[in-house]
Amino acid sequence: MTSVWGERVATELALREEEGIAMRIQVRSATVRLVQGDITTQSVDAIVNAANSQLAGGGGVDGAIHRAAGPALMEETKRRYPEGCPTGQAVITESGNLDCRHVIHTVGPIWDGGLEGEPELLKSAYRNSLQLAVDHNCQSVAFPAISAGVYAYPIDLAAEHSLEEVTNFLRECEDIGEVRFVLFSDGAFGAFGRVLERFEEIV
Ligand code: ADP
Repeated sequence: MTSVWGERVATELALREEEGIAMRIQVRSATVRLVQGDITTQSVDAIVNAANSQLAGGGGVDGAIHRAAGPALMEETKRRYPEGCPTGQAVITESGNLDCRHVIHTVGPIWDGGLEGEPELLKSAYRNSLQLAVDHNCQSVAFPAISAGVYAYPIDLAAEHSLEEVTNFLRECEDIGEVRFVLFSDGAFGAFGRVLERFEEIV
């Protein structure tokens, strides 16, 4: 079943691909794909960094991206965005040594029990990242599980809210061909996979 406006999202097959086990669904003309791996090695138009609001670099996926990109990435980020980036917003840079055209730096919320607007801020981080990708003609975009590390967003909720927002965006915008979630751990891959399976029933 292919996607037409208003139709259900069709879950395709769980695929075994070169990089390991992957899963995907089709949302209108776009593929949403889950892979387990390292976001710094992805060949896509843009990768998304789970940054902090100072855009100061740090540990986790942020540190990995800056290490792999080299110092040019931090130099550009500091020069163009000295004021940082508020939670839920996103900014874009070039990509240094990475195998992508752009890095989109977004700031997810720090989990504080769930009643402080965390879901809306997380969704806003995804939505603004995807809009920046569209604005810069990026047709393939890779995301990590934003906020699901040091920022302590519970992984099952992170999976649900992230996939909900990305599929909502793709139902309204056909300028993106692939959104790839690159999940570092078995736990994160499993959590996103369980949510993606349910989309067959609920979308
Ligand atoms: P946040 O501060 O937004 O929680 P973290 O970097 O601490 O960001 O974690 C976000 C997610 O990124 C976590 O699930 C973490 O396991 C994952 N992660 C860490 N390194 C990488 C990487 N190289 N590629 C993809 N995901 C990564």
